[in-house]
Amino acid sequence: MADALARHGVLITPGAWGRFHRFDAPDKPKGNANGWYIIHSPRAASFGMWHLDITETVTLAGPSSPEVSAQIRLEMMQARLRQEQERQMREAHAAEQARCWWTQARPTDPSHPYLARKRLPAYNLRQRGGMLLMPMYLDGELVNLERISPDGMKRTLPGGRIKGAASLVGRLAGAESVLVAEGWSTAAALHETMGYPVVIARNADNLEPVARRLRQRLTEKVGITICGDDDRHLSAKGKPNKGRIAARHSALAIDAKLLMPSFCEDCETCTDFADVRLCRQGGGE
Ligand SMILES: [Zn+2]
Repeated sequence: MADALARHGVLITPGAWGRFHRFDAPDKPKGNANGWYIIHSPRAASFGMWHLDITETVTLAGPSSPEVSAQIRLEMMQARLRQEQERQMREAHAAEQARCWWTQARPTDPSHPYLARKRLPAYNLRQRGGMLLMPMYLDGELVNLERISPDGMKRTLPGGRIKGAASLVGRLAGAESVLVAEGWSTAAALHETMGYPVVIARNADNLEPVARRLRQRLTEKVGITICGDDDRHLSAKGKPNKGRIAARHSALAIDAKLLMPSFCEDCETCTDFADVRLCRQGGGE
């Protein structure tokens, strides 16, 4: 069993049955404790990693009695329940940190390097030290913050809720049309050029959950347009164009319009509406 788990990068402490254990995920800094496992029996174990949102069960082939199978199923259910409880605790902790930082944050410095480089005003952002903060809401509650560093690195709070959570540029109230985009700079650029409110899903995977929630929340009269990123740098490497696929799926899921950036001639670097806006203005990154 230890060998089977080791093949998945999970290193176990021998003799640790039936209880929940934490381990360091291999792709994160030492001490991250982002992984967990539970050994159900000499033949079955489950493990998962929080940051990747994965849960897997490893079983060794061989004879097993109905009693043992039932016991394994029970323990797997308990492991899932336990994982769900831990996830909720981590989300609650992150939400608390988000509220604290958001309250303490100061207004953004308009000369912040990220804003200056993108040539955008700081719609709905605040600042903490050198970091820009973008609030993320779920059902009207602040649940997470995206921190944008001067060099454009973006990170949410550890353990914080992302699925379904969103940020906003502009005002939804009274809008006849609402746009949905992946990132803050894209949203800000779209708002600058088109004037509509833009809901920010943060990443491609979250476009559809956010789009669905938005469709439920708005009346039918309000049109929704999904504004995708075109990850053509991925296509160029033979990988799926994640942004394009997610945008199309989201638009189909809620019967929304789809808008993709149309690129400038002789330009191979732009991937989103913010890039295109800068590119057309001349210069940029
Ligand atoms: Zn361009």
